[in-house]
Amino acid sequence: MRANLDIQGDTPSDIKTGSADSGDQSPLAAARQKLREQHASGQKTVRRTPIEKSRAKPGSLRLAINAMCWQCQGEDADPCVEWRIGNCKIDGCALHPQRPYQRLQGKPTPKSLVSGGEEKGR
Ligand code: SF4
Repeated sequence: MRANLDIQGDTPSDIKTGSADSGDQSPLAAARQKLREQHASGQKTVRRTPIEKSRAKPGSLRLAINAMCWQCQGEDADPCVEWRIGNCKIDGCALHPQRPYQRLQGKPTPKSLVSGGEEKGR
């Protein structure tokens, strides 16, 4: 059984264990609550590209790999970059075993990538 933690404030532990304000203790509910609070206080959500995320945290190999695969697949010039990375067939690439979005490997090709019965991606 999960302990009922009385968490108050705006700490990283809120993200892991849930917010005290909502009945839902899941990490997703806590993150949504935090986002609502940020929006209510006037903070804007900034969407960064994988390259920008990597530059902001240069010590992270995970962010560096994510950025490299994103760049390699043409960034967001074509749709479904996540699917294209997950289904990358260049297994000779040193990053292949570590590429992100591997959960999408083998999933059906998104309709936005199919044109006249042929796949556009690599
Ligand atoms: S794993 Fe695929 S998408 Fe990632 S860098 Fe290598 S070739 Fe590019």
